[in-house]
Amino acid sequence: MWIHHPRATHILSWKSHQPHVWNLVKKRTYHSSSSTRECFTYAYLLQACVKEEAWSEGQRIHVRMIKRGVEMDTFLETKLVIMYAKYGKLDFARRLFERGEKNVVGWNAMISGYAQHGQSHAALALFKQMRMQKAVPDHFVLATVVSLCETEMQVGKQLHAHVMAAGFQSDLVLLTALVRMYSACGAMDDARQLFDKMSRRDVISWTVMIAGYTKCGRMEDAFSLFGRMPRRDAASWNAMIAGCAQNGYGAASFTLFCTMQRSGCAARPNQGTYAALLIACAGLSALDQGKQVHAHIIKSQFWSDALLRNALVDMYAKSGSIQDSRLLFDGSFDRDVIRWTTMIAGYGKHGFAAEAIHLFDQMQKAGVKPNHITFISILSACSHAGLVEQGWRFFHSMTKDYNIVPRAEDYACMVDLLGRAGKVEEAHNLINKIPTEPGAHVWAALLGACRAHGNMEVGKVAAQRLFELNPQQAGTYVELSNIYAASGMWDHVAQLRKTMEDRGIRKQPGYSWIVVEKCTHVFVVGDRSHPQTEAIYTMLENLTRRMKEAGYIPDTDLVLHDLEEEEKEGILSHHSEKLAIAFGLISTHPREPIQIVKNLRMCIDCHTATKFISKVSERKLVVRDVNRFHHFREGLCSCGDYW
Ligand code: ZN
Ligand code: ZN
Repeated sequence: MWIHHPRATHILSWKSHQPHVWNLVKKRTYHSSSSTRECFTYAYLLQACVKEEAWSEGQRIHVRMIKRGVEMDTFLETKLVIMYAKYGKLDFARRLFERGEKNVVGWNAMISGYAQHGQSHAALALFKQMRMQKAVPDHFVLATVVSLCETEMQVGKQLHAHVMAAGFQSDLVLLTALVRMYSACGAMDDARQLFDKMSRRDVISWTVMIAGYTKCGRMEDAFSLFGRMPRRDAASWNAMIAGCAQNGYGAASFTLFCTMQRSGCAARPNQGTYAALLIACAGLSALDQGKQVHAHIIKSQFWSDALLRNALVDMYAKSGSIQDSRLLFDGSFDRDVIRWTTMIAGYGKHGFAAEAIHLFDQMQKAGVKPNHITFISILSACSHAGLVEQGWRFFHSMTKDYNIVPRAEDYACMVDLLGRAGKVEEAHNLINKIPTEPGAHVWAALLGACRAHGNMEVGKVAAQRLFELNPQQAGTYVELSNIYAASGMWDHVAQLRKTMEDRGIRKQPGYSWIVVEKCTHVFVVGDRSHPQTEAIYTMLENLTRRMKEAGYIPDTDLVLHDLEEEEKEGILSHHSEKLAIAFGLISTHPREPIQIVKNLRMCIDCHTATKFISKVSERKLVVRDVNRFHHFREGLCSCGDYW
């Protein structure tokens, strides 16, 4: 009996998680010698090899079978097909499969083998062949094939019909796979129709449906389903928390996280949950919440996870605490290119270009190769600080030292950098040198520069290209109208406003928020809905008086701020960021720095006013607008009035 062969003993002594299989094998081989029994033994061994992913052992068993002249039947051949297909030896598996008598198990092994090894087209082609040969696919084959159709809606729909016709109407796994297929194709209504018809649903099918909604931003539907879920597990909580974070419902994602913990949900969130929460905190500039998440991560098993460390560095930088970000960065030894880049980008956004450049040099010394995003980060750091020479150095180094071909984003950074420095013509020339079609952000950067430096000729060109590329973008109209207004071309301004009205284009409403004692307070222009409204407006009046004494003159050239008719002089002093700052002044300790976030670019008057506020109130003020951080202190801003 071969079981006494030293090689076989070795096979049996290798660590197995399935001792009962080996016991069975031992029993059978000791007590039998008939070829049928031997055949079973080999089948068991091959099965065990698949389970343990012991591929070389499996191959050795196959060799032994050939040497011993074991009689091959469909049963044994299928086992070999399964093993080789799972192993990834697909051509070999296919030869065995084509040679033998085909059965549904073999078809499934081949199809899922192709699927698992990234050959989805081969898998779908084989499925077609299976259907042509009138073989009846079972549940497993169908589930595999449906999962392959996530980008092929037409094939997916045919499969759906097939699943129904084949009598699988109540097959939970198959129907869930179909719901997932429709969601992945973005066909949420088809997905929902099927979901609603399902006679039985489990936590997975609910979660698939919710994740589908969050992926395409249908948060109301996602919330409504989540609320109706009979039972929630970690995956469903995570899907909802991540969905909120990705769709800009940062506060909701944090609330959900707290609720999840209170609900005693047996499973903690996973890395994905933590990462989503950190992204949410970064988006909200919610430093306190971010710190809480950090504390949770330290207590969890993920405290050393590289991905989360990168997210933490990013969260601290975006929440205004660049020092904490740096501490975390310095304390880590596994710095990859993403962490270096995150730190460099953080310094750039805060306007600390010198630090960003220093870090870039250190990164090179450490032997870490900068990537495309690193260059965007360093270029925009130079841009925020107006460092033209340095910017060119990095721009050229990209191709020269790292063989990275500059993309549209890199050109946009350079255009921005040149434009800010007043080199509008040079910026325009650079755009003409871009080998590909320059995207909207390149022209937007140029238009911004034209507005800042009053260059109407180039500005008109840039605006024209933007109108072609993105006619619904309100920002283009506002910028161009600002250029006209600065030159006193009021008829052009009026014409633009009319075009905007005719095309039904609305400006994105501006709002600002401030986090005080873990509570987020949001303000819009002229907002009177806050419970402390009286105190806020009194504070604002008080401030304005003291600012005027210090030399502040409100920039009442209205068109420069806005196109909206309601934006009268009075309201100028009630811009959302001013309200948020006034609230910050009355609700925090006299020496505490105040940090607010604005969803749009800060207007010129608010910027000037905030400089005066930092002076008369003797407070440090940090404003994060859509582009960057402004650190206001003693009447000055870190951006050097360049933003
Ligand atoms: Zn403003
Ligand atoms: Zn500033």
